[in-house]
Amino acid sequence: MKKIEIFLAVVICILSFSSCAPKDEYDEKQIFAMDTVITIKVEKGRGDDVFDGCAGIITEAERIFSRTLEDSEVTRFNTSNSEAEYDSALDDCSAPFVELIEKSLDISEKTGGAFDITIEPLVELWNITGESPEVPDVSYINNALVYVGYERMYVEDDTVYRYGMVKIDMGAIAKGYTLGMLCDYLGALGVKYANISFGGNVGLVGSKPSGGKWSVGIKDPDDTSSTVGTLTLDGGYVAVSGDYERYFEKDGTRYHHIIDPFTGYPAQTDIRSVAVVCDDASLADGLSTALFVMGYDKALAFYNAKTYDFEAVFVTDDGVYTTEGIKDSFQAK
Ligand code: ADP
Ligand code: MG
Repeated sequence: MKKIEIFLAVVICILSFSSCAPKDEYDEKQIFAMDTVITIKVEKGRGDDVFDGCAGIITEAERIFSRTLEDSEVTRFNTSNSEAEYDSALDDCSAPFVELIEKSLDISEKTGGAFDITIEPLVELWNITGESPEVPDVSYINNALVYVGYERMYVEDDTVYRYGMVKIDMGAIAKGYTLGMLCDYLGALGVKYANISFGGNVGLVGSKPSGGKWSVGIKDPDDTSSTVGTLTLDGGYVAVSGDYERYFEKDGTRYHHIIDPFTGYPAQTDIRSVAVVCDDASLADGLSTALFVMGYDKALAFYNAKTYDFEAVFVTDDGVYTTEGIKDSFQAK
């Protein structure tokens, strides 16, 4: 997809996520950052107090987690060793960088490597969101796979170490992390209610102004202007990963942006999209990517193992399924 198509797809996504409430109950601001559209809706009358602060949090997060900004912390990490044979480290790392790397490594370990921020060489190679993406030659994929593996990194205090060449891409978790920061900020400032939509992640703060619970529509991957159903929630976070937002097609095959760290190809899975519901925003984001890679059977076994506390809605090739703990909160269409 071209940039403008991605932009429109994201806007449509945001629309389908909006929790229907009269506009005059909210102050609203839209920000384009982290390669996506962020829509922040807060308690009427509080926008002037909080929107600048929200923009500051987003700018700061980009300065840390962007893979494309020249002086971001991720870029500094990625460019500070290009020699494959040397082990190295980046020290004096910021607290958010260290925290999110540690969390990412934990999710990798617990998901058996389905989620892996060392995926960067493959993301760069596939360049799905580039101007004219192509299917890479298998020899390039195999070469990139050599450098993928979360076991090749570890953290001590404010230093991030790596064995040989390791490059990271935090695109599957940084949006969720930033969303969590925004919601914490609004909560700390006593904003009574807010609803933030952040590139496939939604954060719900406080109680819905018009009463009742929040509703979050789950998009239909085959018709993104429509939904497969609605989640009704008290609050928390919903993160969605799917094959329909960022992809290109070649010879009838869809090559999307979620890569299987074991094969080096876009994950071949029976899941079209998965929405994770969780009280932890970055965990929700990371897990939605991991569950997508796992496929339905493995994802369900992972849920049943209770490694993390979350619920999920799966849109699969043969129907929509929810995990046990959320089945009464999902209304299929
Ligand atoms: P989105 O960014 O569209 O919300 P995700 O949260 O699922 O979707 O993140 C997908 C992004 O994460 C990709 O664009 C890529 O940058 C990176 N990524 C791709 N595959 C993986 C993976 N297996 N583990 C971690 N990150 C990944
Ligand atoms: Mg994710």
